[in-house]
Amino acid sequence: MRTIDIPLPENPYKVFVGDRLFSNLFDYITKFNLHKNIFAVIDKNVNRLHKNKLTELFGKFDGKFNAIEIDPSESGKSFSTLESIFTGLLKHNYTRDTLIIAIGGGIVGDITGFTASIFSRGVQYVQVPTTLLAAVDSSVGGKTGINFNYTKNIIGTFYQPKFVLIDPEFFETLPKEEKICGLGEIIKYAYLTDENFYSFVKNNLAKIETLDKSIIERVILSSIKFKSNVVVEDEKEGGLRKILNLGHTFAHAIEVEQNHKLKHGEAVIIGIACSLFLSNALAIMNDEKLAEMLSLVILLQGRINISSHDKNAIYKNMFRDKKTANSKVKFVLLKETGNILIDVEASKEQIMYSIENGIGLFS
Ligand code: NAD
Repeated sequence: MRTIDIPLPENPYKVFVGDRLFSNLFDYITKFNLHKNIFAVIDKNVNRLHKNKLTELFGKFDGKFNAIEIDPSESGKSFSTLESIFTGLLKHNYTRDTLIIAIGGGIVGDITGFTASIFSRGVQYVQVPTTLLAAVDSSVGGKTGINFNYTKNIIGTFYQPKFVLIDPEFFETLPKEEKICGLGEIIKYAYLTDENFYSFVKNNLAKIETLDKSIIERVILSSIKFKSNVVVEDEKEGGLRKILNLGHTFAHAIEVEQNHKLKHGEAVIIGIACSLFLSNALAIMNDEKLAEMLSLVILLQGRINISSHDKNAIYKNMFRDKKTANSKVKFVLLKETGNILIDVEASKEQIMYSIENGIGLFS
């Protein structure tokens, strides 16, 4: 078992990573003296695929326990799902001394974190990420939220969990495309961290996809450590934290244009490719470096496919992104691995060129 500290000044917490760790969930709850009035929000597919594991563990619990199953979809990352969770909490008389546990991917994690942040003016919560994407990224850092009016994560809070428990055994039931989604955020960290981690990810891409135990553990630890350092510096995204949005301005706009047929992590991979082209178009990155940097995302060609797209609609969607301050689209761009620029502006032509070339690699 490995532990990573997230040393936030006001809300420090730990991330535990290890096989079969889920069976120790209640030991950690006791160890950290958390409330024993537990309400679990569980991803529908996880509930089905890991029924035995969940039933066995929850059956042993001697405190108050209820659960709700969530059908995870971007359209369901909404007020109506939030309402159904609140209804469940009130039906079973939960109040301020509640501990909510999110068991699922990023969708369940984001909506559960949001619920915990506003129910009874804020209750304790714990994240048990069951997708690779949620493990390497969304379960840590405290961003919570729901989508509204076709705008992703536009309503939400910064609210940190009491701990995060990552049991990679959950990932064994992930469909192929969900592993690719996890790879999307891992690749993001490869570009953001340094040359060493970039090469490690590039050389071990196949092993990450097949969930090779030692490789996966290193990738999770490195990604979370990088994210932790950033979040500790800038919890509320005043500046530095924006680097974690590499590729995301493009990705969110593409996801909406593709009507969410493309998964978030898949869109991030394409978004990163677009960002590399834009870095080159703005002369931040030279042609030689661009070719070198594209070589990692190119390894995923054939795994993600966009059959058709409307680049004008994608461009328009960018202005709906909440990171679009004062109607200017601002990008996170790269000079090279680990050398990142934030708040970069570009012309419409340069953006359109990048959308066309980035998507072009996957269509
Ligand atoms: P997801 O939550 O939609 O899960 C993907 C699919 O995998 C779902 O169908 C789910 O039922 C299934 N699933 C989950 N665990 C499984 C398992 N162990 N075995 C089999 N199937 C399983 O998607 P995601 O990729 O985990 O998360 C994407 C969401 O995360 C997006 O909404 C995105 O906005 C958000 N996100 C948030 C942050 C943050 O910092 N809060 C960061 C990145 C992404």
